[in-house]
Amino acid sequence: MSTQKITVIGAGIVGICCALHLQRLGYRVTVVDQRPPGDATSYGNACMITDSSLVPLATPGITWEGLGMLLNPSGPLFIRPRYALQIVPWLWRFWRSADDAQARAGAQALGDLLRGALAEHHELADNTSASRWLGDEPSLFVYRSAAELEHDAYTWTLRRANGVRHEWLDGPQLRAREPALAADYWRAAVLLDHGRAVDPAELTKAHAEWLQRGGGDIRQARVQALEIRDGQVVRLLTDDEPLAVEQLVIAGGAWSAGLAGQLGDRIPLESEGGYHLTFTDPGLELRHTLMDSGAKVAIAPMAEGIRIGGMVEFAGICEETLPQRSALLRRVIKRILPAIRTEAYTEWRGNRPSLPDSLPVIDRASQVNNVVYAFGHQHIGLSSAPKTGKLVAQLITGQPPAIDLTPFRVGRF
Ligand SMILES: Cc1cc2nc3c(=O)[nH]c(=O)nc-3n(C[C@H](O)[C@H](O)[C@H](O)COP(=O)(O)OP(=O)(O)OC[C@H]3O[C@@H](n4cnc5c(N)ncnc54)[C@H](O)[C@@H]3O)c2cc1C
Repeated sequence: MSTQKITVIGAGIVGICCALHLQRLGYRVTVVDQRPPGDATSYGNACMITDSSLVPLATPGITWEGLGMLLNPSGPLFIRPRYALQIVPWLWRFWRSADDAQARAGAQALGDLLRGALAEHHELADNTSASRWLGDEPSLFVYRSAAELEHDAYTWTLRRANGVRHEWLDGPQLRAREPALAADYWRAAVLLDHGRAVDPAELTKAHAEWLQRGGGDIRQARVQALEIRDGQVVRLLTDDEPLAVEQLVIAGGAWSAGLAGQLGDRIPLESEGGYHLTFTDPGLELRHTLMDSGAKVAIAPMAEGIRIGGMVEFAGICEETLPQRSALLRRVIKRILPAIRTEAYTEWRGNRPSLPDSLPVIDRASQVNNVVYAFGHQHIGLSSAPKTGKLVAQLITGQPPAIDLTPFRVGRF
């Protein structure tokens, strides 16, 4: 057991899970965030705890598919005009990652990170107040036609290669299992090892409260600069008082690149905007989390209603929602759950921290010796946060990491 002090920047699900794992090892933990715990991207995700989202976005053929999506105003991909030039270098790297060998290697790495995701969540939450925010039902990946499934064939090949457990339902079996679904769905895969956060923001908050009950400190402040002396970060300069640092974890989600840049690590991190609408009076019961890969959305039953999440919108870091995106999501959910009432809803836009190869950075900083990075979790941050926390704790204590961390190294760019 250590009695050393550790500071974590970021009270999203990733930072809080790192803090909890470190506290378990006896570290005195301080988490610093400009916002309350779970208030940024971890607030609004689509609730899915998945072991199957292991295929990087950059796959062979994505370039033409992406261009087609960009030209379709009802598609799931957008670039806001003012950001079109700024995103070009990231898209260039993304395009260069889009080959079979890199996609397969990425899928293997993400598969390692995601394997046992639900069990890792339970390991952290069980016997704490956070456990009530976890649900164990499998998810359904739903398809309307053989052509839609065929379009996903590459993804399924990589899922099978990485041992994702699933079984198939035909149309009648699917309708019996999820009666609220539109009648024209043809087949579905049941993802047996999935689970969900009943409310991802509440899950993060409950973990943060547990951390505080165990003596952890949560400070609300914006970290503006990292003071370095003799190859170590020694103080955080914030918009409040400075904070002395012994060891530091940077888990600042989409905001992390500026902090890493101060330490000499240039990382091509972008915000990949995503939307959700939560229908607070849906008028129907949904039994599973659904993924519709044709529409590229996830739909989840939640404590406060039914949520649809999706879209990829490049606009830099931004929380402003555009009415046309919300209108699109309302139309999409009506096609999937025709009886849903969509009058009452809340809307939200968040910033997925995304690297061109879809893999996070989980590594020591390259030029100072008391900093570990844990950011860039893109579409899988909720799912992989507990294991990321465990890996960060292993890096800090010098234990052998539970999985091969080579693919997640900072120096790969
Ligand atoms: C629409 C949508 C749907 C999604 N669905 C899923 C899903 O179903 N399953 C899944 O696994 N993942 C999903 N994700 C992805 C997931 O939400 C993210 O990967 C995850 O929330 C990232 O967590 P984080 O802790 O890294 O970042 P965040 O939650 O953004 O937390 C980072 C924190 O760092 C703080 N911070 C940064 N810099 C500073 C600074 N200088 N000073 C102080 N504080 C700082 C920020 O204020 C913020 O609170 C989805 C994302 C979106 C947008």
